[in-house]
Amino acid sequence: TNIIVIAATNRPDTLDPALLRAGRFDRKVFVSVPTLEERIQIFEYYLKSKKVDEKVNLESLAKRTSGLVGADIENVVNEAALQVAKSNREVLEAKDFEYALEKVIMGPEKKVKSMKEKEKKLVAYHELGHAVTGHLLENADPIEKISIVRRGHALGVTWTTPEEDKNLYSKAKFLDEVVTLLGGRAAEELFFGKDEITTGASNDFERATNIVKNMILKYGMDEEIGTVNYLNDHEENEFVRPYSEKMAELLDQKIKNYLDTAYTKSKKILTENKDLIEKMCTILLQKEY
Ligand code: ZN
Repeated sequence: TNIIVIAATNRPDTLDPALLRAGRFDRKVFVSVPTLEERIQIFEYYLKSKKVDEKVNLESLAKRTSGLVGADIENVVNEAALQVAKSNREVLEAKDFEYALEKVIMGPEKKVKSMKEKEKKLVAYHELGHAVTGHLLENADPIEKISIVRRGHALGVTWTTPEEDKNLYSKAKFLDEVVTLLGGRAAEELFFGKDEITTGASNDFERATNIVKNMILKYGMDEEIGTVNYLNDHEENEFVRPYSEKMAELLDQKIKNYLDTAYTKSKKILTENKDLIEKMCTILLQKEY
């Protein structure tokens, strides 16, 4: 009597039904990742006892932490505070948050060995390929920052600020996103030639392919394939394909077509802006951002 049991899980789908029977855990409260407004409040909470420069804009910080949870934000604040302590200051400034955000989201900088000149240049063009396509495409997320400083496994990073707390995505957005993802490889090919392309784009391809697959197999966004969902997340036996051989062939062809079209578009945008990209690359390499 008078005992309330509360439990939390990230995987409610894997719980034993015996646990969920009436009289055990009666109510389910779904807690999603914090919204923009909530993240502002979380920042305020963790910064309550700290001195913060008035130029620090919490809303802009919250915007750039889309998808992070409270513990991550606490981590960002702690990293920023550490940075301030290290340099014997008292007030947290915008640059401290900049440093902390990058460290928490992209991993710490690796300054062990400097990249070879050519590799550095390749990474710079690759990232500019993402950034320039992303910047020029109407539906792609706005570009926040490019970096060619090594972090974790990443040789370079293009950082976007996704539109806040969006729950619905359009086909146009998916298509632009794919063009942006393929921009890295497109830039390598454009500036270094067909034989100099590198392994750096493999993760981009994985993400681009997944977007296209979801578009046509899950969201019914291809007219010819129609409004079906062939990607059943709950399918137990993944060896059974829910469509015919003929459809499988069409799907393969479709996926390839979408990716090829996006790659061509990417190359076109980059070709049109070649001079600009070369100038930006020089700056990126000089300053070693
Ligand atoms: Zn890339």
